[in-house]
Amino acid sequence: MSANSSAIRWAVPNVDDAPLESVRFHGLKTGPKLIVVGAVHGNETCGPNAIVRAIDDCRAGRLVIRRGEVTFVPVANAKAYRQNTREGDRNLNRDLRERPLPVDNEDRIGNPLTALLRQHDVLLDIHSFRGEGKPFVFFGPEDNAGELEAFRHATAEAAFAACLGTDILIHGWLDIYVALIAARERLALPPLAVTEGFGTTEYMRFAGGYGVTLECGQHDDPAAADIGHAAIHNALVHLGIAVRRTASLHSPMVDAALPARRRPAVIHMNDLVICETPGDKLEGQWRTGDSVTAGQPVARRVDGELVSAPRDGYIIFPNANAKLGEAICYLGVRSARGA
Ligand SMILES: [Zn+2]
Repeated sequence: MSANSSAIRWAVPNVDDAPLESVRFHGLKTGPKLIVVGAVHGNETCGPNAIVRAIDDCRAGRLVIRRGEVTFVPVANAKAYRQNTREGDRNLNRDLRERPLPVDNEDRIGNPLTALLRQHDVLLDIHSFRGEGKPFVFFGPEDNAGELEAFRHATAEAAFAACLGTDILIHGWLDIYVALIAARERLALPPLAVTEGFGTTEYMRFAGGYGVTLECGQHDDPAAADIGHAAIHNALVHLGIAVRRTASLHSPMVDAALPARRRPAVIHMNDLVICETPGDKLEGQWRTGDSVTAGQPVARRVDGELVSAPRDGYIIFPNANAKLGEAICYLGVRSARGA
């Protein structure tokens, strides 16, 4: 558990098919509608912990919702959260869509969850990761009318990603997922469907809005909930939904500005090293966001052959336990897309 004393565990009923619980604040003036989601992966408790604090801030007047709406979903996957596992029956952040005939836990959650997403303009989905590394934000493609992920809110989405407070922004997820599928095909491994690459943010873009995934750091790092909590404040102020207020010496509450921030680095995730044979391993100690230079070894094949970075860039999601057909690591380069 987190060492943070304010990290109160959100309660979910100990029953099968627990309902999806949301807490919504309606501003009295019109404005954008933000949805903040936690525990899509049940062992990523920074989301619920951050959201509990944000709900408390709204109720206490430290955040005043003025325009539009914010909906908080502290725990998207109650079964996985109760079990403290990533998944209930499968990964909720894959192949997310409506299903007239749901067959597993995540299918059943997907129906009300996608219905909720459709009621909003912007999504902030709060996660954490297993390995070490700095917090970062995943955002989506440039404006396009393509087959894979047509989109028309790239500028607004990138600005939203940049406001959240992390030093790193990453894009390129679906394209790299297509590359992973192709790499598995070359190895004659069981095919993955491209629809598997569609999670909450992809659904949000499909539904006409935009959304980002905030990765707050390592699962058990108590600071992860602080990152998530600050990001919710930043998101609400950035979108003009809320004003922050703080107690001062002379008046009970005054409007509070957000802290100044550096411009985040933007990384285009555009390559991967796949585990081709069981025993292929990560070479060296890497964390997401680490710089890598061209020619530097990043993996070692089971026969001893070294795999080197093809160009200067960054390591993303290094996986010391990659199984056959999984990525040992992803690679990225500094993106031309300024935030
Ligand atoms: Zn996650």
